[in-house]
This record gives sequence, structure tokens and C-alpha cells, in this order.
Amino acid sequence: MANDPPFARDAIAVVGVGLIGGSLGLALKGLGIGSRIVGISRQETLDAAFALDVIDAGYRYEDLESGIRDAALVFLCTPIVRILDMLPEVLGAARQDALVTDVGSTKHAIVSTATAHARDGVHFVGGHPMAGSEHRGVGAADPFLFQNAIYVLTPSPDTPDIVVEKLARLVRAFGARPMKMTPREHDRAAAAVSHLPQMMATSLVSMVGRMTEDEGLPIRMAAGGFRDLTRIASSPYEMWRDICHTNAAPIREMIDLYIESLSAIRSAVDRERLEQAFAYANRIRGQIPKDSKGFLHPLHEILLLAEDRPGVIAHVARTLAGENININDIEVLNVREGEGGTIRMGFDSRSCAERAVDVLAKAGYSVRLR
Ligand code: NAP
Repeated sequence: MANDPPFARDAIAVVGVGLIGGSLGLALKGLGIGSRIVGISRQETLDAAFALDVIDAGYRYEDLESGIRDAALVFLCTPIVRILDMLPEVLGAARQDALVTDVGSTKHAIVSTATAHARDGVHFVGGHPMAGSEHRGVGAADPFLFQNAIYVLTPSPDTPDIVVEKLARLVRAFGARPMKMTPREHDRAAAAVSHLPQMMATSLVSMVGRMTEDEGLPIRMAAGGFRDLTRIASSPYEMWRDICHTNAAPIREMIDLYIESLSAIRSAVDRERLEQAFAYANRIRGQIPKDSKGFLHPLHEILLLAEDRPGVIAHVARTLAGENININDIEVLNVREGEGGTIRMGFDSRSCAERAVDVLAKAGYSVRLR
């Protein structure tokens, strides 16, 4: 029907049913999009995905071609290196008029590979949902993961606009905000605002760690600022290995620019012009949107289901304040009038988020860690 969301009545395949693939499955099922959601993964992962009602049918990687054969839309959600490996087979086996997309965190290598293996009648559009969590696997899948998130689309030059727009409409149905750019623009921006901060956090913690070991620097002194700035130093290497290997040149360029910027600050440390640097950074920091998930990793988050009645948020906030728990970020994700909605709250540490879940569950709310 004309007003149906795109792919509403089509088979949709998700290759790699992990955190992102599983979240796509749950989001699609929650919205009633797709005649069936087909997962392609290892048997163990498929079993977990069935149990969580993420997929309607499952195939192992050995049967990849059977899994995607009927799908009008294929999401590639494995680690980047596996997306690169599988693209030729997927593009070769996809049905005529299928749209193949991926969720990999870098785009140039993936889109170039897709272009090199392009097949008439099969469309490819690169994608990167700017949402995630430090958890992995289908067990952490979340139907609301993409809400209010930027979702980058990097179409190949010859992908028809109508096909890109169809995917953009689906992304909007998830509650995300599609943003079109070229793969190179994406990778350079991601290097600046996501990959460089990861390299900075990793190198800063390593430097302080070595000083602690070699000189007995009292690392226990590390408090607010150091913790905030280095939270992402706990990220798993596996995902970052693929990101760094497929985006090395832009990351090196950003590291060089950062070294220049740090040198400028170094020479200004005891000079008046340091004040200008602080004022400029304050102004730019204030312009970073707070209402969307972006390139930076989110805080430790919880989700709370709340009734649609006046005073709910005030009661939640009072309950947490009573236990001296500070909410760093709060957002109403989806409201169904008369039924209620989901409230996302962010906290600056995992233990704080766990305490918040405890306290709110005791107060009678349906609440869980995200
Ligand atoms: P994940 O939870 O670990 O899921 C990855 C899935 O890929 C697994 O379920 C796994 O399925 C499958 N897989 C196939 N070959 C694999 C291999 N050699 N090693 C590991 N897993 C393999 O990871 P994810 O966070 O969903 O990330 C998937 C993709 O999304 C990546 O390309 C990443 O760059 C991108 N991404 C991640 C985030 C984030 O914050 N996590 C955000 C945006 C985009 P089986 O268990 O069946 O093998």
C-alpha cells in the first residue's frame, strides 16, 4: 500500500546477528516491517536470536546464498573485515532489484569493494548508524538503539536516488536521522570525532599507566576529568582493529593535526593567549548537539518504561535524587499517548547506572540497563 513503510511486505536479511544486526531485527519486528526477518549467523547465535524473537528464519554462513536469495533488503552487520570478505558473494547471490547495505564503522573500503563487485540490478548503499554500546552480541540488542541517532548513508555514485530515498525512509521509520555524505567525507569526519578521541584516550591512559609503573605516579588521584576523558579507553580492540586498518590515512592525518594543536597549547601554557584557546574550545563544545547520539559513545544508559501521566519524570528524578544519584542525560525516546513511553537516562559510570536500576525497580518501575 502507498503509505506502508518501505520493505513492509518484503523478506529482509540480516547477516551477522550481533548487537547492531540484532537491534535492526528487533526494530523491524517492532515496527511490523518485513514479511520475515532472516538471520544469517553461527548456529549458536541463531539459537539466541530465535529465543529473543529477533529473527523469523535462520541460516548459517555456509548457506548464506539461500538466506539472502529472496530478500529485497540485505543488511551486512558483521565486523568490517568480514563485510569486505562477504560482499562479492552477497552481491552475486542477491535477487534482482535487491538493496544491499551495511553498518560498518568505516565506509571507503566497503563502498570501493561494493563498486568493484557491482552487479546490474543489485543496488548498494553504504550505511553507518551512529549508535552503539560497549556490549556485544545479540543478547545486548535493543529495538530503540537507533532512535534519535544520526544514520550516515554513503550511496555509490550510480545508485539511483529513488533507492537511496527508500533506505532513508526506512532509517526515519527507526526514529534515526539519515545523513548523506561520500565515503571519504564520512571517514575523515569519523577520524576526527571518533577515531582520534579513541587514539587519544588509549595513548593518554598508556602514558599515565607507564608513569605509574615506572615512577610510582599515584594513579588513584585520577578523578573526574581523567575518567571522563578516558572512558572509551576500555573499548574492545577487535572492533578498533578493523576501523584502524580500513581508515589508517585519515586517522594519521587527524593525529598529525592534533599534535600541531597540542604544540600550540604547549607554547601557550603560561601565556595570555591560552585564555583565547579556552574561550574558543568552550564556544565550540557548546555547539555540539545534545539531542542526538553522534560519533561519540554514549554514557552508561538505562531504559525505563513509564506511564503517560503528569509527574512521572519528576518522580523518577526525585527517587534518584533521594539516593544521591545524578542523571547526566535524559531523553524521552518514544511516547504512545495514553500508554506511556520509554525514558533513556545516562549516568557517568556503570555502577551508578546499576544503582539507578536497583532503586527504580524497588520503586515499582520497569527498568533495565541498556
Ligand atoms: P557484535 O555484537 O560483535 O556482532 C558482530 C556479529 O558479526 C556477530 O553476531 C557475529 O555473528 C558476526 N561475525 C561474523 N564473523 C565474525 C568474526 N570473524 N568475528 C566476530 N563476529 C563475526 O558487533 P557489532 O557491535 O554489532 O558490530 C557489527 C558491525 O557494526 C561492525 O562492522 C561495526 O563496525 C559496526 N558498528 C558498530 C557499532 C558499535 O558501537 N558496536 C556502532 C556502529 C556500527 P556470529 O556470532 O554468528 O558469528
